[in-house]
Amino acid sequence: MFRKICEKAKRVEVDWFGGEPLLSFDALCAMNDKFTILAKQSEVEYCHSITTNGYHLSEEVVTYLATTPLSVLTITLDGPPDIHDACRPLKGGGPTFWTILKNIKNAVASGLKVSIRVNTTTRNVDQIPELYTLLAEHGLKNKIEVNVQAVVSSPANPCESHCLSGYDFAHRALAIYKRAAKDGWVVLPPTEKMRALGFCVGEYPNRFITDLNGNLYRCGQMFETGSVGRLGSDGTIHLDTVPNDLWVKKDPLQFSECRDCPMLPICMGGCNMKRYHKPGCDYCLDWKHDLPEFLEVLVLNEENIRSASSH
Ligand code: SF4
Repeated sequence: MFRKICEKAKRVEVDWFGGEPLLSFDALCAMNDKFTILAKQSEVEYCHSITTNGYHLSEEVVTYLATTPLSVLTITLDGPPDIHDACRPLKGGGPTFWTILKNIKNAVASGLKVSIRVNTTTRNVDQIPELYTLLAEHGLKNKIEVNVQAVVSSPANPCESHCLSGYDFAHRALAIYKRAAKDGWVVLPPTEKMRALGFCVGEYPNRFITDLNGNLYRCGQMFETGSVGRLGSDGTIHLDTVPNDLWVKKDPLQFSECRDCPMLPICMGGCNMKRYHKPGCDYCLDWKHDLPEFLEVLVLNEENIRSASSH
């Protein structure tokens, strides 16, 4: 598939995702090295990114990654040590937080771009400000990004009882961002990069997630239930038109509620997974529920971006 894509594309990006991709680090290196060679032969720009729990981000791994075209390393932290260790213990029990934090500091010191993803539920939402404080105490303020993301219950990850509704999440996340922004954190991208904040990568026609069997998906929440096609044994992509078109041909103007909504075009019609596969679920861009607060955070954020770039 990679070779075939290189025949047509100018740029190819790969995101290593799991499970936990660093448990198969040798396989990741072998494929990444091969992709680098194939892209170079085809004069195609190549970069990759990794979403990892960060526990196996050893010095050896960081040293390798620093030699590769890595665009971003996304590491999941669910809160300060007690919360994170309760949510993400080792398989046999035991803490993980301090090992991950050491690995993050090492990755940042090696020049890798690190983004922390905080999967937010009712279990950890109150403790996220403590995580910002702790990261700042360890010298990481504005050297890493911190993204507060809502966990969505799905067939692949059923967890309805811990999920925050879109409305609750918007209020809580904005309060967290506002507090962090008042402490000088850059909490959001610059406004000029927000033209389509709700536009999901699942809507790019040429972007897929593949599982181990070559089934193709548009959303990580849709494994096993929402395939949009499959890879042939020769690397050809075979798409199922009906489910695939729901993602790539969505026009927000076809929805009456979107036509009059002030969040258009920033939102672009909301989350497809929720809109089409979770009837009754709130698919709107979260910030719609608290737009004045969102704008306040944006203003604080712009000041912090200016101040961070002047240092
Ligand atoms: S916020 Fe909701 S109504 Fe507004 S554009 Fe997005 S999906 Fe449509």
